[in-house]
Amino acid sequence: MPDPTADLHLHTRFSDGTDSPERVVELARQVGLSAMAITDHDNTEAIAVAAPLASRYGIELIPGIEMSASADGCEVHLLGFFFDRNNAALQRHLTEQQARRVERVHEMVRRLQKVGVRIGAEEVLQLAGEGTVGRPHVARVLLNHGYIATLPEAFTRYLGPDNPGFVPGSPLSPVDVMRVIRNAGGVPVLAHPIYLRRDPLIEEFMKDGLVGLEVYHSGHTPQMVRHYEEIADRLHLLKTGGSDYHGQSKEGVPIGVVKLPYQHVEALKQWKAAHVT
Ligand code: AMP
Ligand code: ZN
Ligand code: FE
Ligand code: FE
Repeated sequence: MPDPTADLHLHTRFSDGTDSPERVVELARQVGLSAMAITDHDNTEAIAVAAPLASRYGIELIPGIEMSASADGCEVHLLGFFFDRNNAALQRHLTEQQARRVERVHEMVRRLQKVGVRIGAEEVLQLAGEGTVGRPHVARVLLNHGYIATLPEAFTRYLGPDNPGFVPGSPLSPVDVMRVIRNAGGVPVLAHPIYLRRDPLIEEFMKDGLVGLEVYHSGHTPQMVRHYEEIADRLHLLKTGGSDYHGQSKEGVPIGVVKLPYQHVEALKQWKAAHVT
């Protein structure tokens, strides 16, 4: 038996991934994961859909989420693990955030119109379907209309922080979002710190309740992993990791490309047992 491993960063079509929750569980089984966390953007609906199949396969499905926040004009993604999905304040926050994201699509479409890009918000929302809408859905519509040749191009020309169509993903600060996670009994973790590129913020966020750092991520080179391992060890942060699998909306990132040793899952559980009453 190989040592147990986990992938704690997975998206389904309930946010901007392209796979059903069941398909993600099926893939997790194929790559031999013992534990997995579906971490859709501002949405927990996939978890209940995935749970029966995960249970049948004996895969531990850890409650997960990736929540958007803003700090000094930077997009901050916070992962939450082991929270109570039925927590009323959490679900209220998610409902509000999903509504803000719909309004954000309308605003992005208005801004794009000013630079001569004519796409309809309704088309984006229809493509997103029942879950959380996000920039990858806008990117897909830009591709369908020939404004870009590849999906990543959307983020360098139209939707990235320095581009004309950019609108922040959330008006809330990291402290507000981490409070929602912790009040729901969850463990807050800073996602893919390389995308933030502001290491000093990590220590700031710890004052606001941050408990872990996503050291292992498909976007981190081995050198970056060593860098963030050192930071996590120095600051006594828990270490998590995952592929950030999105199906066909993020090419070249298969599920399980990051396999987190199960001891890190144990550490998350131990933290929760010691800190959440
Ligand atoms: P949103 O939550 O709507 O701001 O969208 C964030 C998502 O957009 C991320 O989870 C990625 O799936 C995708 N994304 C962000 N930046 C890029 C990029 N440079 N290239 C491709 N996809 C990206
Ligand atoms: Zn995404
Ligand atoms: Fe993210
Ligand atoms: Fe993600």
